[in-house]
Amino acid sequence: LQQQLKDPSLLKCAGFINGQWVQTKTEKAFEVFNPSTGDVVANVADLGVKETQLAIDAAQAAFEKWREVPAKQRSSLLRRWFDLVMANQEDLALIMTFEQGKVIAESRGEVAYGASYIEWFAEEAKRIYGDILPSTTSDRRSLVIKQAVGVVGAITPWNFPNAMITRKVAPALAAGCTIVLKPASETPLSALALAELADRAGFPAGVFNVVTGTDSKSIGAELTSNPDVKKITFTGSTVVGKILMEQSAKTVKKTSMELGGNAPVLIFEDADLDKAVEGALVAKFRNAGQTCICANRILVQDSIYEEFIRRFTARVSEFVLGDGLSSESTMGPLITKKAVAGVVSLVNDAVSLGAKVCIGGNVGSNGDYFFEPTVLRDLNASMRLAKEEVFGPVAPVFKFGSEKEAVAMANDTEFGLAAYMYTKDHGRIWRVGEALEYGMVGINETAISSEMIPFGGVKESGQGREGSKYGLEDYLEIKYMCMGDI
Ligand code: ADP
Repeated sequence: LQQQLKDPSLLKCAGFINGQWVQTKTEKAFEVFNPSTGDVVANVADLGVKETQLAIDAAQAAFEKWREVPAKQRSSLLRRWFDLVMANQEDLALIMTFEQGKVIAESRGEVAYGASYIEWFAEEAKRIYGDILPSTTSDRRSLVIKQAVGVVGAITPWNFPNAMITRKVAPALAAGCTIVLKPASETPLSALALAELADRAGFPAGVFNVVTGTDSKSIGAELTSNPDVKKITFTGSTVVGKILMEQSAKTVKKTSMELGGNAPVLIFEDADLDKAVEGALVAKFRNAGQTCICANRILVQDSIYEEFIRRFTARVSEFVLGDGLSSESTMGPLITKKAVAGVVSLVNDAVSLGAKVCIGGNVGSNGDYFFEPTVLRDLNASMRLAKEEVFGPVAPVFKFGSEKEAVAMANDTEFGLAAYMYTKDHGRIWRVGEALEYGMVGINETAISSEMIPFGGVKESGQGREGSKYGLEDYLEIKYMCMGDI
């Protein structure tokens, strides 16, 4: 990897604490793999509780000064970081594909998407407004100011190794918080390259710290119990999110949680079928099906079911599975062999209960990390695929009769992140849009995410929003000041 980078110094293998690159004393390290080949890409410092404490101490010390830095200056630093990320887009994309496997075009896209959050929050840093409220008596005035929450602990997943970080770090720094990040141990290199660029942009030492390590339980326990940490922000599974919320309760930390999804795509008989096929395709197979807003269940009205299956399967047959670095590949591997095993078990469960495979259904011929793009039909509610997030390139297509039935099926899950519908009926758009128990609803569109919108879920998909003006609120406290004797 290093030889392929235009700027080899972006490949960092140590943690980043208080402006210094930190190895452990014992030089303990863990291996990062390229899932396309199984090769070791790098050995990264395996840090633990002690280094997490050091990082929190550094972040706390830096917070005292960073909170005083004028918004315009915080904004300029963020803007410089954005420019550096975009100037190094190609290298960051290469690093990402090497450690995560996604096809290089998607990695380039994610770097730009991730950077857009830095740009956005550089702008929003200048728009943290307070309020002056009416008073109950004539001799007093009531004011509201917004202040940084304090030190933030962030834990991020491997599926978007860049954007899940910038979505958290950029609003935190814009608000005046400092941050300690624990990236997924599968994909620490993207996080470290971002830290290197932030350092070059000129953020003061201790403002942005990265603790790399495999003992996520202990690092997470320290982040959630240390009284200096005032907020935990997490993207990952609902199981781990609940643990972190429980641990955070002891010191009443604020939490933002982006957890699991089980996104339905509702395709009604009046839909533009070609658009619905393309939308479902994008929503299902991006990042080899490893996104939390991936179409997990495709629900199609009975009168168009056969035609949808025909057209959709034809499009799925065009995917080229292969090494993410090859420009010919349109879909890469899954992150680990364990992830492949999880997909296999969900497919086997559905098939054993009567689902039929339209295309795919097997581990890819390219190797153990690959799974073929797959379409399953004749699904029913008894199958695990109806309830569980598949996190792989498997599209289960369910059938429904009425609008009411479609909404009931869509809502029959504890998750509530994203849902999509295809219809031309304006009345239905409102009825279904309001009835769907989801934080985000795509209407005749599945590419719904950007830095300008509030990304987040309801029910067990989490709390808080990332991106947009709302994304900054999660890093701010409201303070009321009462001025008397006027
Ligand atoms: P995924 O299935 O996407 O890997 P996880 O929720 O297991 O989702 O992991 C997301 C992030 O949470 C990763 O950085 C992982 O290391 C971290 N993590 C996993 N378990 C814990 C835990 N008990 N405490 C803190 N962090 C954890």
